[in-house]
Formats: sequence, C-alpha cells, structure tokens
Amino acid sequence: MLVVDNLVKQYGDLVAADGISFKAGKGTIFGLLGPNGAGKSTTINCISGLLPPTSGHISVAGHNIATDGKAARRSLGVVPQDIALYEDLPAIENLRYWGKAYGLRGQVLEDRVSEVLAHVGLGDRARDLPKNFSGGMKRRLNFGCGIVHRPEVLLLDEPTVGVDLQSRSKLFDMIEAERDNGACIVYTTHYMEEAERLCDSLAIIDHGKMIAQGTVEELRAQLGARDVLQLSGHFPAESTKNSIEALGKRSNIDIDILSEEEDSVTLTMSSASQYLPAIFQAVSEVGGNVTETSLRSPNLETLFLLLTGKELRE
Ligand code: ADP
Repeated sequence: MLVVDNLVKQYGDLVAADGISFKAGKGTIFGLLGPNGAGKSTTINCISGLLPPTSGHISVAGHNIATDGKAARRSLGVVPQDIALYEDLPAIENLRYWGKAYGLRGQVLEDRVSEVLAHVGLGDRARDLPKNFSGGMKRRLNFGCGIVHRPEVLLLDEPTVGVDLQSRSKLFDMIEAERDNGACIVYTTHYMEEAERLCDSLAIIDHGKMIAQGTVEELRAQLGARDVLQLSGHFPAESTKNSIEALGKRSNIDIDILSEEEDSVTLTMSSASQYLPAIFQAVSEVGGNVTETSLRSPNLETLFLLLTGKELRE
C-alpha cells in the first residue's frame, strides 16, 4: 500500500533523510521511531507531497508520487504534527472543509462528517469553535480532518504530543479502529512505549538513517536474552569501564556498557543477577561504590541506546 524506496532529502548540506526504505501494508501500523531531529517529519512530508525528495521513489496505493501525484494524494490522509484547524470555524465546518477538499458532496459528506464527529468523541461539540477546545480535543478534531475522506494510507506525525492521558487513550482507540477498517498507517513518535503498543512493525531512525527495522519482537530479539542493569553510586571515570570490561573478558561474559557517568552506569548482559557480586567487586577495585541497582528486561529504548550510545529522549 505504501512503498518508500531509498528516500533522500537534503536541506543544503544537511541530509535530513538518508536512504529511508520501508513498505507498509493494508490494515497495519508502521512506526517511525526516533529522537527529535531524526528525520521523521521530513519523511512524512516527502510522502505527503509537501516536500520534493532529493532522490528516491515513493508510491502510495500504487501511485508514484512523482508522476501520479494527484492520485497518490487522494489516497492519503495526513494528520500533521502542528495542529491545522480553522480555530474560528465550528468543528463541523472544519470537517466539511476537508471532506469537500477531497471531493465529498451532499448527503455522503453530511453522513461522513456526523460519523467522524461521533468517532472522535465530539458529537456534542459540533457547533463549538476549536479555539475554545482543550489540547486533546483539538488533536482529536485534527485527526478527524485527516480521516474524513476514508484514506487508504494515513500519515500520523506525532499525534499525541501535548495530549492528556485520556485523550491519548482515545486517540489510540481511534487509530486502531482505522487500522481495523483496513487503513495503512504510518505513525511517527519519539515515545518508545507508544511504538511498542501500536506498531506492527517499525523502523528506528537517527540522523536521517534507519538503524534498525522489524517487528517489536524482532527488534527485541536483536538484544538477545539480555538484562539491562543500571547501577547508581560513585564511579571513577574510565577506570570503572575498564574494570567491568576486564571482568567480562576474564569470566568470558559478554558485557556491553551502554552509558557511563560519574553517578550511574548502565550495561546489558545475560544473567546479570548471577554476576552482581563480581560487578560490585570490579567497581570497588577502582575506588567506586554501588548504592543502588535496578534490573529490567530490555525494550526499544535499550536497543536505541545500544545502537547509538544515546538516550532516545534526548
Ligand atoms: P523529526 O521529525 O524526527 O523531529 P525533522 O524531519 O523535523 O525531524 O528534522 C530532521 C532534520 O532536518 C533536523 O536536523 C532539522 O533541523 C532539519 N530540518 C527540518 N526542516 C528543515 C528545513 N526546512 N530547513 C533546514 N533544515 C531542516
């Protein structure tokens, strides 16, 4: 339903999307996960036709966006990151506007607008102005505007930014309902728990490049049966790392140090609890001490840290 093949987008010297390739099918949610500035919006804007790619090919519902842009755009619904509503037009008029823009008319338009208003939980606020809505209500209406013409491919750019918990959960339900109706959805986020909850498969991107791709299970499997061990306390720079790495070599255990600071060290390894005493020993040998430990199973945040050496939320 959506094919992105080797997409490159440059702004002057900056390569904001650097060889992005993925396919997404009907009735699935594909996630683009990455920190701010990774290139997620750039990718979405190239798919929606808002930005011309520097190179690469994109096809939407079988239509090449370069040669058949009009048909490609008709198959697309876009929910932009920045809320795009007419604040002084009643909610219902915002939906009518977008419905008409995509060719809906008459009773078909009216029926669909009523259906979407109910679907986004604004049935009783149809005549109210978005400027008087809460952030969550605006997000829901923004979403409604993106789906009013029943697009086959739906692009959602960080749709939960600035949204309260209740509206967030409502948005998730709405997104899942679109998926169940057969839409192909691309969902960008820098919240790994959203990607884990919603996406059938996803790509992790950083500095415009895809650094991992697969289902959540496949990506987790890249980490193997590893624990993430976080130590708090006092850790002399460099020597702590050397001492833990020496322990790994000596005992033939595969230890990856994910981050190291004066007051915390995070590492991944198998059977971490078994080696805790040896790790404490390695830290104290270089004059450090451990005051607190936490052990957890790996998640996408860990994978990002392992692949890039930095936190996803930076
Ligand atoms: P994300 O959506 O993942 O936060 P973006 O796609 O917005 O990332 O940005 C990717 C990179 O491209 C960033 O370094 C950003 O500063 C840069 N960028 C985005 N838009 C423009 C633009 N219009 N001109 C120049 N640089 C841009």
